Amino acid sequence: MVFGFFKKQEPEEEEVEIEPVSFLGPLNGLEVNLKANGRLVEAGLMRAKDLVTDALARRADTIRIEPKGPQALVTVLIDGMPYPSGKLPKTEALAITQVLKLLAGLDTKDRKKPQAGGIKAEFESKPYTLSVSSIPIADGERLMVRITDQKLKLDTPADLGMSEEMRVKFRELCASPGLLLVTGQSGTGTTTTLFALLRNVDAYIFTIVALTDLGGRKLNQVTALEVNPEDDLATTIARAVRSEANVILCEPIQEAGIAKALLSKAGDVMLISEMAGKDPPSALLQLIAWSGEGLPVAAGLKGIVSQRLIRLLCSDCRQAYRPKADFLKKIGLPAEVMTLYRKPAESADPNAAVCEKCNGGGYYGRTAMFEFLEVTDGMKELITGQPDANSIRAQMKKDKMTMLQHDGLRLVAEGKTSLEELQRVFKV
Ligand SMILES: [Zn+2]
Repeated sequence: MVFGFFKKQEPEEEEVEIEPVSFLGPLNGLEVNLKANGRLVEAGLMRAKDLVTDALARRADTIRIEPKGPQALVTVLIDGMPYPSGKLPKTEALAITQVLKLLAGLDTKDRKKPQAGGIKAEFESKPYTLSVSSIPIADGERLMVRITDQKLKLDTPADLGMSEEMRVKFRELCASPGLLLVTGQSGTGTTTTLFALLRNVDAYIFTIVALTDLGGRKLNQVTALEVNPEDDLATTIARAVRSEANVILCEPIQEAGIAKALLSKAGDVMLISEMAGKDPPSALLQLIAWSGEGLPVAAGLKGIVSQRLIRLLCSDCRQAYRPKADFLKKIGLPAEVMTLYRKPAESADPNAAVCEKCNGGGYYGRTAMFEFLEVTDGMKELITGQPDANSIRAQMKKDKMTMLQHDGLRLVAEGKTSLEELQRVFKV
C-alpha cells in the first residue's frame, strides 16, 4: 500500500465483549425476592439476560415471545420492523417469560389474566425502561417487552421531527382560546406528541396548567391544579381560568361528557387534549357525534394533529441519486430537489463490506410525519353540515393543510428517508 507508510499499524481487530444488561428492579417499586423464586431464577435469569442483551445490542424496540405448539417464536422489532429471531423450546420460553414477569413486579402465579409492568435496566452505561406485558393466548402466554432508551430525547416538536413551519403555527394557535387535539391509535406516540406540543407553548408568556396526571414526565413551568372531587370538568376548567391559566392540558376525550365539557369551555381558554382515532378526519367525526351537533365543534375546535413513524436512512451508507424532473413533478416534489437518497443496493458479493452503523439494513432510527386538520372557515362550514371522511379530506386538500404524504415527502426531499420507505409506510 502506497500510503501505508503514513499510517500507524492498525491493531488486529479484536472481538468486543458485550457486558450483559443489568436489571435494576421493577418500575412499580416492589421488592423482588429472587431467593424465594430460586428455581425459576436458576431456570430463566441467565437466558432472559442473554435475550434482552442481544436485543439491546441490536437496537431493538420490542421483544416478542409467542408460544406455538411445542415451541415459542421469538421476534424482535428494530425501528418498528419485525425480525424473526429463532425458536425456543416451550419450557425455556416459559422460564424466560416468568423471570421477566417476576423482575417487572408481576404475579408469576397468575397466567390467566393480562398483566403489565416494567423493569429499570442498564446497558452499556445507559438507562433503559423495559415495559413488560403478558397476555394469555391458546398456547400459553404471549410476552411483549417494549424497550425505551431513557436518554433518547423526545421532548419537543423539533425532537420529534416536526417542521419549523408547523411549530410556528402551533405556537400561534396556542395564543388564543380554542381546543387542540392530538389523535392516533394507542401505542403510536400520541401522548409523546401531546406533551411535545405543550412544551412548544411559550411558557414565559402563558400560564400552563395541567388537569391530568403527567405520567411522571418532567414539564417545566406547568402547574398541576388540585381537582376538587365534587366539581365537574367544566367547573374545574372555569376555576383554572379564574386562576389565570392560559393553556390547560385536559384528560383524554373518551366519551361524550368530556367532549361536551371541553367544547363548552373552548371559548374561554386554550385547551389541549388527546383522543383515540385512526386519523384526524375520523377523530373529527367522533367528536361531532359526541357533541351531538356540529356547531359547538365548528366554534370551539382549532384543529386535530396526528403522526405516524417512519424509518430514517442510515447517514453512513445512504446513497444519493438524481431523480428525473418529470418524476419529481409526478410525485409532487419541487423541481429544485436535485438529490434524493436511498439505501444502498444489496451487493451480490457475500464478502462485501457491511455498514457498521446499520448492520446493512440501510435505516437507523425513526422520526415522525405529521398531519394537521385545521378548522378553517371552509372546514367550519363543512362541520355544521353533514361531513364524512371523504369530504373532510377534500377540504383539507383544498385548504392546503399538511397531509401525512406531504410531510413524508418533506422528509424525502431533506434526504432523511427514502421514497421506498414512504411507500412501505403507506402500504401498511
Ligand atoms: Zn448504514
